[in-house]
Amino acid sequence: MPIDATLPYDDQNIFAKILRGEIPSQRVYEDDWAIAFHDIAPQAPVHLLVIPRGPYVSWDDFSERAPAGEIAGFVRAVGRVARDHGLVAAGYRLLANVGGDAGQEVAHLHVHLFGGQPLGPMLA
Ligand code: C5P
Repeated sequence: MPIDATLPYDDQNIFAKILRGEIPSQRVYEDDWAIAFHDIAPQAPVHLLVIPRGPYVSWDDFSERAPAGEIAGFVRAVGRVARDHGLVAAGYRLLANVGGDAGQEVAHLHVHLFGGQPLGPMLA
């Protein structure tokens, strides 16, 4: 069931629990601003989720409320994860679903990172 991206942040969402280490994940990256882990239902040979450490429901919430330093840190982290996985030469895709029409399921901003094969028109 897609979320309502206009609701306030709820720290009981599953990615908040992953951030706090209450639910396991296959973490591949972490820094002061972000963590990245493998999606549990991968749609490509590489399918990672990069999430900010801060409490943001969606890209809309993040781009509106996050301080500039936090935005810069998160954007750099996303790029670094892709680079660390050797994806730049072949290419990769970033995607962030926001709210109902996009089918966002988890109410903590997450950027999907897909790669490892030619990706076709759409994923996630
Ligand atoms: O963008 P959207 O909200 O639809 O994506 C949520 C993603 O989170 C899905 O790709 C799903 O497989 C993933 N997920 C996960 N670990 C969980 C719950 C969901 O990787 N525990």
